[in-house]
Amino acid sequence: MDSVQTLIVGAGVSGLATAAALEGGDYLVLEADGEIGGYCKTIKQDGFVWDYSGHFFHFKRPEIEAWLRARMPGQRILTVEKKSFIAYKGRSVDFPFQKNIHQLPQEEFIDCLHDLYFAQVREGMPGADVPPPEAASFKEMLYNRFGRSIAEKFLIPYNEKLYACDLGTLDRDAMGRFFPHANLTDIVRNMKNPDNGSYNASFTYPEGGAIEYVNALARAVRPDRIALGESLVSLDLEARVARTTKREIRYERLVSSAPFNRLVSLAKLAHDPSVFTWNKVLVFNLGFDRKGPRNVHWTYFPDRATSFYRVGFYDNIFDTDRLSLYVELGYPADAKVDADAMLPRVLADLEREGVTDGHALVSKHSVVMDPAYVHITRASMAAHRTLSDQLRAHGVYSIGRYGGWTYCSIEDNIVEARALVESWT
Ligand SMILES: Cc1cc2nc3c(=O)[nH]c(=O)nc-3n(C[C@H](O)[C@H](O)[C@H](O)COP(=O)(O)OP(=O)(O)OC[C@H]3O[C@@H](n4cnc5c(N)ncnc54)[C@H](O)[C@@H]3O)c2cc1C
Repeated sequence: MDSVQTLIVGAGVSGLATAAALEGGDYLVLEADGEIGGYCKTIKQDGFVWDYSGHFFHFKRPEIEAWLRARMPGQRILTVEKKSFIAYKGRSVDFPFQKNIHQLPQEEFIDCLHDLYFAQVREGMPGADVPPPEAASFKEMLYNRFGRSIAEKFLIPYNEKLYACDLGTLDRDAMGRFFPHANLTDIVRNMKNPDNGSYNASFTYPEGGAIEYVNALARAVRPDRIALGESLVSLDLEARVARTTKREIRYERLVSSAPFNRLVSLAKLAHDPSVFTWNKVLVFNLGFDRKGPRNVHWTYFPDRATSFYRVGFYDNIFDTDRLSLYVELGYPADAKVDADAMLPRVLADLEREGVTDGHALVSKHSVVMDPAYVHITRASMAAHRTLSDQLRAHGVYSIGRYGGWTYCSIEDNIVEARALVESWT
């Protein structure tokens, strides 16, 4: 039987960042897929560069960005001032919606302002930075903080399209720091002095696509320590033995970035699987014959009649002359997704929404991200805590976006992996 000190499951950002942090240590990375990268893969096709859905980067820790860039020789990294909008009843409203209600038709603006004001007065926070009383769910938080009109015109329909679930089941903090909060003072101030800065006011993007950050991590990992096309299929927690599609491996500790619900099943831990729910996202990457709309990087589509919830414009990031889009559609986990059958509707919706204007499609690619957004609920958080403790007691650490059953960025994945390795020294 093979043996290794640290067995790592997954060669996405989290797994590779763990291996890189172990430096010369005794580790092996198992990757089910034939390539590294996980969800940070890039497709290059017919002169277009696409990711598995839009992946743009806003590093908060300069040392992490500098570490990555030092391992990307010759790679040009674009820094882009974000331009993002909401397609709302035939007009384009700046994102975030709640800070730009003054761009709505007057009657709708009055509805939004009225409901916002009385929601925040009721919460005792007109203009104050005092968080309102605890909401029972994400949906209740939206109503409490922003009032009925903002919630029902944008926040609820948009997020329902994305998460493909009842927002009343999600924890109030389901989006964590990724939710652009704004109080009445911010909103009223923004009417005269626009400041739509949110968590991603500007972003960086490598010319070679998101995979370049993965390649940077992989440069710090020994290639012979990555086993591609080999999946973890079961775990004996007591014996600390992993069974893969090819062999058995004894480990001292195991770090997994596989989806948490699958890991606990592979480890045969008793649990209620129904607490872990998620959506899947069908992503179309579409290349067209000529340039489309300019000065936009992505647009949100809250209208339930439109199939997609967001469209991004790679050509305006790269400053290239052919329209190059990613188009995202949210589905419940148990939905059947037929990309070929969906494409004609997506193309018709793009035309109706004015994204295309008689453009000819010249290249296409699609991928289903499953899971894409996990549903963070009180029950999922409690079960994750309890089951993680049980796994840790056996030297098994579940990390990453799906191992942590959370909402996060690649930077968060790197920070978490490094902290875990540091905790062992
Ligand atoms: C729609 C969408 C948009 C996003 N946009 C951004 C963005 O703009 N900026 C940003 O920073 N982040 C973004 N993210 C988040 C980013 O994709 C993730 O944080 C990151 O890719 C997660 O990396 P990971 O290694 O934790 O997981 P993954 O990328 O899922 O990697 C896990 C790996 O484990 C492998 N694996 C699973 N099970 C097994 C098994 N049993 N045996 C062996 N291998 C296994 C998988 O094949 C996979 O390669 C986005 C995510 C989504 C869904």
